[in-house]
Amino acid sequence: MIVRTQAVVLDLEPLSNTSRRVVWLTRDYGRVTTIIKGAQRPKSFFLGQYDYFYTCELLFYRRGSGLLRTARECSPIKTRSALRRNWPAAAAASYLAGLSRAASPPEAPHPRLFALLDQTLDHLAAHPPAPALLAWFELALLAISGLSPRLDNCLVCGRDIRLGSKNQHFAYARGGLLCPACAKHEKTPARRVTPDVLAALRAWQRSPTPTVPLRTRITPRQMDSLLALVGHMLAYHLELAPPGRRIAVELIRNTTVRPHRPPAASP
Ligand SMILES: [Zn+2]
Repeated sequence: MIVRTQAVVLDLEPLSNTSRRVVWLTRDYGRVTTIIKGAQRPKSFFLGQYDYFYTCELLFYRRGSGLLRTARECSPIKTRSALRRNWPAAAAASYLAGLSRAASPPEAPHPRLFALLDQTLDHLAAHPPAPALLAWFELALLAISGLSPRLDNCLVCGRDIRLGSKNQHFAYARGGLLCPACAKHEKTPARRVTPDVLAALRAWQRSPTPTVPLRTRITPRQMDSLLALVGHMLAYHLELAPPGRRIAVELIRNTTVRPHRPPAASP
C-alpha cells in the first residue's frame, strides 16, 4: 500500500553507494525510516527533493512488518534554507530533530509532535535562534506527553504557590513543586526554584507559541536554572537526554551580539 503524508527530515545517512536511509517524523504515521534507492545517482528523481529540516510531501510503501520502508516519491513543501546557512540555528534544529526522534517510537502516530516540530523549525528558520525557544519546545513536548510540571500548588499539601513565593522546591521525580514545609520531609530529589525562574516556567508552559518565551527578559543564570529543571523532567520521565543541547545553547550564546568593550589599557 502506498501512503501519502507530510514529513520532516530528522536524519539522513548513506546506505550504499547509491542509496540513502532517511528518518522522518511524519504527520500521520509517527517516525518512519525509508530507504531512497538510487538517491545518489545523477539522474535520481529524488535529487534536491529532501534535505535536513525540510518538510516534504512523502509517498512510501507501507506493507509488511519491516520498519525500513521504501520511499516512492517526495517533494519539498518547506526547505528552510536559513537553517543550513546559520550554524547556531542548525545546531538548534539538530537538537530538536534528535529530541523528536528520541521521543517518538517507530511508526506510532504522533501528530502533535509533528505539528510542534514543524512550527518550531519554521520559527527557527525565520528568527535568530534563542535558548528560550529550545526550552519552550521541551515544555511543549512534556505537555503533549501528559507530563507538564505542576507549578500552581504544592504536590503534597495542595497549598497554593503564589507568584513571588520564596523557597519553593521543584521535585522533578514527582513532577512539580513542593512548599518549604513539605520540602523538608521530601525523600525524592528536589531543587530550589527562585521566584523569577518559576514565573518564567509558568508563563512559558502556558504559551501556545514561542512568542512569550522569546519576549521574556531572562539572564543566562536564570536560563541555565530553567533549562536544568526542564532537563531533569525530560531525563527522569521520558529518559531523554539527547546530545547537542549544551552545544546548541553555547553556540547561540557565543554568536549573540555583545556590547562593544574597549580594549584593555596597556601597562
Ligand atoms: Zn506543601
